[in-house]
Amino acid sequence: MGSLFYSLLDQSREFLHVAEAPVPSVGEYLKNEIHQRVAGWPEAEEAKKLKLAILNNFFNVECCVSGTHSMDLVALGPFGEYTVLPGLDCTVPGGYQGVTNCLVASLPQDVMVFNKPVKTIHWNGSFPEAGETFPVLVECEDGGCFPAHHVVVTVPLGFLKERLDTFFEPPLPLEKAEVVRKMGFGTNNKIYLEFEEPFWEPGCQHIQLVWEDTSPLEDVAPAPQDTWVKKLVGFWVLPAFGSAHVLCGFIAGLESEFMETLSDEEVLLSLTRLLRRVTGDPQLPAPKSVLRTRWHSAPYTRGSYSYVAVGTTGGDIDLLAEPLPADTEKAQLQVLFAGEATHRTFYSTTHGALLSGWREADRLIALRDPQKIIQHLEGQGLQNVIFTNCVKDKNIKQVIPAVTELVRSSYRYHRGENVELCIMVIGVPNVGKSSLINSLRRQHLRKGKATRVGGEPGVTRAVMSRIQVCERPLMFLLDTPGVLAPRIESVETGLKLALCGTVRDHLVGEETLADYLLYTLNRHQLFGYVQHYGLGGACDDVGSVLKHVAVRLGKTQKVKVLTGTGNVNVIQPNYTAAAHDFLRAFRSGLLGPVMLDRDVLQSAPP
Ligand SMILES: Cc1cc2nc3c(=O)[nH]c(=O)nc-3n(C[C@H](O)[C@H](O)[C@H](O)COP(=O)(O)OP(=O)(O)OC[C@H]3O[C@@H](n4cnc5c(N)ncnc54)[C@H](O)[C@@H]3O)c2cc1C
Repeated sequence: MGSLFYSLLDQSREFLHVAEAPVPSVGEYLKNEIHQRVAGWPEAEEAKKLKLAILNNFFNVECCVSGTHSMDLVALGPFGEYTVLPGLDCTVPGGYQGVTNCLVASLPQDVMVFNKPVKTIHWNGSFPEAGETFPVLVECEDGGCFPAHHVVVTVPLGFLKERLDTFFEPPLPLEKAEVVRKMGFGTNNKIYLEFEEPFWEPGCQHIQLVWEDTSPLEDVAPAPQDTWVKKLVGFWVLPAFGSAHVLCGFIAGLESEFMETLSDEEVLLSLTRLLRRVTGDPQLPAPKSVLRTRWHSAPYTRGSYSYVAVGTTGGDIDLLAEPLPADTEKAQLQVLFAGEATHRTFYSTTHGALLSGWREADRLIALRDPQKIIQHLEGQGLQNVIFTNCVKDKNIKQVIPAVTELVRSSYRYHRGENVELCIMVIGVPNVGKSSLINSLRRQHLRKGKATRVGGEPGVTRAVMSRIQVCERPLMFLLDTPGVLAPRIESVETGLKLALCGTVRDHLVGEETLADYLLYTLNRHQLFGYVQHYGLGGACDDVGSVLKHVAVRLGKTQKVKVLTGTGNVNVIQPNYTAAAHDFLRAFRSGLLGPVMLDRDVLQSAPP
């Protein structure tokens, strides 16, 4: 039954790229598939019922894994986006605290504050403190306040759902608040039972509980107080710990939440009865003690972990992860979001939580990048740096006043009387010289393109006639073909320049460039490509990645293979076309922001 259930579950992951899933939920899909198969089962009715009862247990296990009351609540379409980490399960020495201890060890002492629940995050404000003004104020339940430039919110989604109306001031934008409401966040609890002596066989690892009167095909919803133990999936035998013999049970959903309302004595009594019934031993000694989690009642959690509920998609997870304010052109980044529920492929896991934290830390670090770049360039004797975005015309208006000032403050030889300014735009090929000129014209003359822009190097082949970019002062620019230093200092610098399009791709080789790009992305943990191309996970084998891209884009070709016994046609991925798409996606920003020179900045003194 296990192989049937898990093969169906695998099938239910195949609707990620389908325009419309056949049914809304994973539960409905699984039940339909099982329903179709039952008719073909050759066994007698009793045996069929038993098989369905076993399948029912697997549904309960999956509810624990997905952290939901019912698989009918879990969306089918996006289900395939969840990624299982390869490798075995592992137990961290010293418990999960071992991981956080490691992280904390790298922080200066006394920067962490514990037991200080936050009441409200005030943002988009102006909060003065010690002569400085901050946009964010974190107000704690005990009245304490922390002004801040940025705050990373990692509270569980369950808590956020409950406090949505009061936790942010001003409230979250409507779209984001709607995602918080719609996304799934259920309960999965562990119940530990300690025994004087083990009653299970030596070597037994797992006790699975099957209720003969249950079936996934019957939609009965009895009140949890009568039947809560039936949702318990079974017990895992924990490795013997000193003289302790411990079983760990898992239970999800509303029954789990009901269990939380009972006293320890009531839980112990119910489980003793249950174990006596399933072992057939009315004298089975009761467990010595019980210890359980109560994630739903915990005020700062309100459940266990998130799932993609019917009516939501992976895009909603990304929306939840988007920082505020949405328009950082107008105001600086203030509220960032991390935590398991913000990771599109690893939601509901510890590694998802960790990676989401690193993602937001990187986002904050990137804010400091311009400063570091300026320092680095100044170290090389360059001054007067302006960061621009010619697509969005960002900071373009600063260019002409700065250039005018530089010219006016310098000696102009025999042209001192001349009021016109004629400026030559110089740079490596494809750096965006023509884009800058066009952007300046848009900003200062409200005119469009005067110079052709090429997505590839070599579009501007000669110094063109002067192009007016401004009336006052009267300024002309001369576009020039790109120039490269005659010697490139290292192969890696050459590859970086090639990735930026300073030489034509085919001169280096699209696949070589794609390989270097993949290496760079993985090295800096920029996994935007995994999502963009719907890969199962990060991968450092360029062949596998390009094969996936080619198949996904339909870039395959028929190749005739001559064999001794006759010719056969085989379909081969077009690796060059896939590499071309990979490079194009990177250059147009579809893989997320990437700074190829990050290592140069990191090695620079702070
Ligand atoms: C039974 C069970 C089994 C699991 N098994 C696994 C597993 O095998 N593998 C795996 O990878 N993951 C597993 N998980 C999931 C994993 O534990 C979570 O996904 C992960 O801990 C989430 O981390 P987080 O930082 O997003 O949230 P949390 O760990 O919940 O941290 C959020 C923190 O915010 C604090 N907080 C909340 N509100 C406030 C406030 N107002 N002010 C200040 N602080 C606040 C909370 O107290 C909490 O400390 C399991 C979870 C459960 C419940």
